[in-house]
Amino acid sequence: MIWSISSFKEFQKCERKWFLDKKFSSRSPKNIYRQEVYFLSQLETIDAWRGQIVDYTLSKYVIPKMQKRQTLSYDAVIDYAKKITKARYEFAIAEGHKEPNLKKTEHYYEYAPLYDIKYPSGDLKPKLRKAWDEIVVSLTNFYNNQGLIADLKKANYLITQRTLQYDSHDTTIRGVPDLIAFYPDAPPHIYDWKVHSSDTKTYTEQLLIYAQSLITCWSHSDFEEYIKGYKMTDIRLSEFQLLTNKIRNYSVTEDYVERINDYIAGGIEKLILKNCHKKFEELSIDNFEKTPNLDNCRSCPFKKICKED
Ligand code: SF4
Repeated sequence: MIWSISSFKEFQKCERKWFLDKKFSSRSPKNIYRQEVYFLSQLETIDAWRGQIVDYTLSKYVIPKMQKRQTLSYDAVIDYAKKITKARYEFAIAEGHKEPNLKKTEHYYEYAPLYDIKYPSGDLKPKLRKAWDEIVVSLTNFYNNQGLIADLKKANYLITQRTLQYDSHDTTIRGVPDLIAFYPDAPPHIYDWKVHSSDTKTYTEQLLIYAQSLITCWSHSDFEEYIKGYKMTDIRLSEFQLLTNKIRNYSVTEDYVERINDYIAGGIEKLILKNCHKKFEELSIDNFEKTPNLDNCRSCPFKKICKED
């Protein structure tokens, strides 16, 4: 079984949603109903859509330019984001994710199925305009943070969206930090970008799991030498709320290390108790309860089929 904090949080919010997303959905046309569930599972709300465009711009354009020590022009950053936004809008309108034989891995640039196309609310255009304004604000806040940019320039290696995995309790723990910066004479620094209109929620567990994953992960020959000699408590962690322009730094203490390991062990146990480690064929949808909190259903992509069953 693979355990990640995002999947576990989804499970905690609604077991039924987790089951439909992680076990039931299948892109294969052999089962039309399971394929329909897969198409629903791909839908993103506009808020998530906006965040993905910012993440993609930073990971695929901004950070690689910094890594190559190339000049970063503000206009070029916004132009890059504008092109992705247009490509993703066209993909969403055409419902490109339903194209037969489409390989998602070959279409990350434009792949962006939109919840609001499947569940139209009549105000798509103003929502998209607002999302674009917020993409610009988020990228501007990143670009104007000279302290952060100066710090990243001191790094000798930057990697984005790297999947880090390690084994614990017969389970694979997975984390994908937005950015890891490695330095010649300082411990690695993990950054996580958030594009949320409110910055009150903290992400302690998520960042700690990234730190644990970095120190414990299966071998990555490109950065192995940069983590040699460091402990989890040495890793620096920051969450950058790009829309509200707030950076939150987290220190990793021994107490936190113990707490996060207990959290992961408890999370794995909860999934195993529900047989989540078993194959789809061995499971029944009825064992996965619907959320008691109807707020969770409001923007759930599965609400169409949930109402029907
Ligand atoms: S519609 Fe509600 S109950 Fe059904 S899967 Fe979604 S969140 Fe769960």
